[in-house]
Amino acid sequence: MKKLTIGVFALQGDVSEHISAMERAMSGLGYTGEVIPVRNKVNLMKVDGAILPGGESTTISRLLKNFNLFSLLKDRCIEEKIPIFGTCAGMVLLAKKGDEQVKKTKTELLGLMDARVERNAFGRQKESFESPIEIEGLKTPYPAVFIRAPSYIDTWGDVEVLSRIENKIVLARQRNVLASAFHPELTMDVRLHQLFLAMF
Ligand code: GLN
Repeated sequence: MKKLTIGVFALQGDVSEHISAMERAMSGLGYTGEVIPVRNKVNLMKVDGAILPGGESTTISRLLKNFNLFSLLKDRCIEEKIPIFGTCAGMVLLAKKGDEQVKKTKTELLGLMDARVERNAFGRQKESFESPIEIEGLKTPYPAVFIRAPSYIDTWGDVEVLSRIENKIVLARQRNVLASAFHPELTMDVRLHQLFLAMF
C-alpha cells in the first residue's frame, strides 16, 4: 500500500475542494498518507507531489514568488521529479511558453511542460461550461467543468495529449507533470486525481 503526502498550494482558488477530492481519490485506491495545504517552504519540502489549483494565474505566480515557493517548486519538480498537477490557472503556470496575455501581464511561468498556453482559450461567450470529454485511458467520458479555461495550442518533446475539445488541448502529461484546463475538484468524479496518483 502506498503512503503519500500530497500538497495543495493554498494561495488562491479551490484549495479545500482539491484537498477533499484528493483524499477521496487516495482512499478509493487504498492509499494512506495525507493531503496538506502548502504556503511555506517547510510544507513544500514535506510533500511527495503537489497540486496547483485554478484561480488567476498572474496572481498565483506573484504569490508563489512572494512566499518564496516559485524556485523551490521548480527545482523539486526538475531535480527530484516530484509529480505536479496544475488545473486551469495551474495549467497556465506549468507551460513553457505563453500568449500575448501572459506577456502583457508579465506573468512568470514555471515552464515545466513543453507547451504553449493560451489563456481564456474558449472566449468570453463561453466563460464557463460543463462538458463530458473523452480522456485517453478512461473508459467512459469525464464530466469536465471549464471556467475561463486555458488550453495548450502547441506541445512538443514527449508531451502526451490526453484530451482535446474543439481541437484545443485540455489535458496533457509529460513525465511527472499533468495539466488540465478544467476543474476536476468541482465534480465528485475522482478519476483525474487518480490519474495523477498513478504518476507516483
Ligand atoms: N483564466 C484564468 C487565468 O488565465 C484561469 C481561470 C481558472 O483558473 N478558473 O489565470
